[in-house]
Amino acid sequence: MCESVTQSTDASQAARFIIETLQGSGHRALLAGGCVRDRLLGRVPKDYDVATDAVPKRVCELFRRTKKVGAQFGVVLVALKGHDIEVATFRSDGEYRDGRRPESVTFSDAMHDAQRRDFTINGLFFDPVTDELVDHVGGQKDLQAKRIRCIGDPDQRFAEDHLRLLRAVRFAATLEFEIEPATFKAMTALSGQIAIISPERIRAELSLMLTSIHRERAWGLLCESGLVDHLIGGFAWNDAGRASVRATLAELPADAMFPLALAVIFSGAGSHEAIKACRRLRCSNEETSIVRRLIEYANQMQSPGALELADIKIMLASELYEQIHALAIAQARARSESVSPIDSVRARAAKIPTERIAPPPLLTGDFFLNLNVPQGPVYREILNAVYRAQLNESIETKSQAEAMGMKLLAKGSD
Ligand code: ATP
Ligand code: MG
Repeated sequence: MCESVTQSTDASQAARFIIETLQGSGHRALLAGGCVRDRLLGRVPKDYDVATDAVPKRVCELFRRTKKVGAQFGVVLVALKGHDIEVATFRSDGEYRDGRRPESVTFSDAMHDAQRRDFTINGLFFDPVTDELVDHVGGQKDLQAKRIRCIGDPDQRFAEDHLRLLRAVRFAATLEFEIEPATFKAMTALSGQIAIISPERIRAELSLMLTSIHRERAWGLLCESGLVDHLIGGFAWNDAGRASVRATLAELPADAMFPLALAVIFSGAGSHEAIKACRRLRCSNEETSIVRRLIEYANQMQSPGALELADIKIMLASELYEQIHALAIAQARARSESVSPIDSVRARAAKIPTERIAPPPLLTGDFFLNLNVPQGPVYREILNAVYRAQLNESIETKSQAEAMGMKLLAKGSD
């Protein structure tokens, strides 16, 4: 915590230094967007952005370490005091044709730059040298009223860039703001457009909202606006499914990670469909595998009494145990069921000595090679069965493992 505050103070000093340098050279330069909003809300901004009337070429002349990152949008990254600060030239956006980004931009002034931004609370500027707030869009009023409102005509603004639909949900949920009625009406009307946005960008927004402690509210807004029906092509929730996801998200631990939240939202459809949904969202293989295993293990946890020692050891060895437990508890609480059977699994798990969780297998592939058994699926089946018996502590020695292997082999060749 302390570190992030210190870091962000440094970033704010770096941004201030950049602004002083630009102003000292005769330019207008201001803090812009999210960092102004967050400071007014008493939150620590994630990053500091500077907006200026200096064109990118001029910004590059004034600072030693610069990189043009969004040349066509007039964005230059200035590296200073260990921070990369985005310095963007005031601009107006040209026509939007693909629902994602403008065809062209023209450099302009602070007022026009405010108007191309998404929501009034994100359209504020602040001069850290004079302490002056520059508000061309009524952002301060909406901040005080805790309101998300589009700058300009909401239908047009969401039609220009459909990602704003999800940004509205994210800001409303994470800041605990209401969405102003006309803005919400436009979101509902245009919700289907979100399908045009790349899965990577949808995933990034979903990750931000579902890892926040306000994930339940975010889900509620996704459902109420109709966005949820178009987020992941082909994946749908019925009313009961939505309500169950909502109740389960509400019971997750505050710091639940993204795959755990994904496991909640996909669990009703089973692990096979969940894998497909994760792939559509372009989750990494590792993330997809975590989601699948969380769903499968949490399903096993539905009947805690039926879990064998081997099942618990396999969960412990997967290093997902804490998340499996959290998911199972959340699912039980969402259904108003007792969590004590799940807690008793935890008590059993706590008694397992570390060295017994994933011991080296007593039986390996060499066993079959020595017996000249041709390789095939039977190898894996028998090795798995023997290893389970070992984890269940019903066999403890190599000779017991070999005897069991022989028996299963004989049974298989019957
Ligand atoms: P965060 O706390 O997530 O960083 P932010 O509001 O700072 O929130 P950024 O993505 O960092 O969001 O963008 C910085 C600013 O750029 C925003 O505050 C907003 O003014 C503007 N902006 C970002 N994305 C859009 C968009 N899709 N449409 C219009 N303006 C946008
Ligand atoms: Mg930001």
